[in-house]
Amino acid sequence: MEPFIRNDQYNFIKKQTQTLVNGHSSVNDIAVLQALKSLAIERVLNLFTDISNEQKQLLEPIVEIKDKDHAEEFLLQLKPYVIPFEEVTQQTIKKLMPKVKKLKVPSLENTDWKDISYLSWDDKGSQKRYIIARYNHKLMGLQGTFKPINKKGICTICNKLEEVGMFMTEKKGTVQGTFTKRGNYICQDSQACNANITSLDKLNDFISLSR
Ligand SMILES: [Zn+2]
Repeated sequence: MEPFIRNDQYNFIKKQTQTLVNGHSSVNDIAVLQALKSLAIERVLNLFTDISNEQKQLLEPIVEIKDKDHAEEFLLQLKPYVIPFEEVTQQTIKKLMPKVKKLKVPSLENTDWKDISYLSWDDKGSQKRYIIARYNHKLMGLQGTFKPINKKGICTICNKLEEVGMFMTEKKGTVQGTFTKRGNYICQDSQACNANITSLDKLNDFISLSR
């Protein structure tokens, strides 16, 4: 079976397993537990269009999850079917950021491509943040300044309450020499952000507004 689960979908499934584990530890009513199970499997199967029997068989054991160990075991079995983010090379990145002179691209060796919906890194010296994501089936690069605000806020990309910072992009205006600035609060820690993403909707909105 080919990988068919995106990082955001994997995170969504993980969230459903947590709901089941919490349910089993706090609810005794069999009917309520049954309802929780039905809801979990329904939500998970709904993530996918044209799901095959084989894929269904992989996902259906979610209803058996009773505790944390169980959940971890189930999630481990899904991992081989997670679609990795398109592995990008330093060269591709430079092509995606043509306007950036002296672009500092970090070593990507330790990136776990299965754990990300977008790639991001900071250049601390210039207070810049770079983001690579898929948008409309194409890879695209965003760059902006990033300033941590040292408090929690709702992240524009993952929609969760996290330590955030202001990501500010600048676009050329319609009148020559003018610029439009756009700012969004996004997670300071992009690894945490990627682990929070349970749908690509907000990420897509963010890209369409920032590009
Ligand atoms: Zn976030």
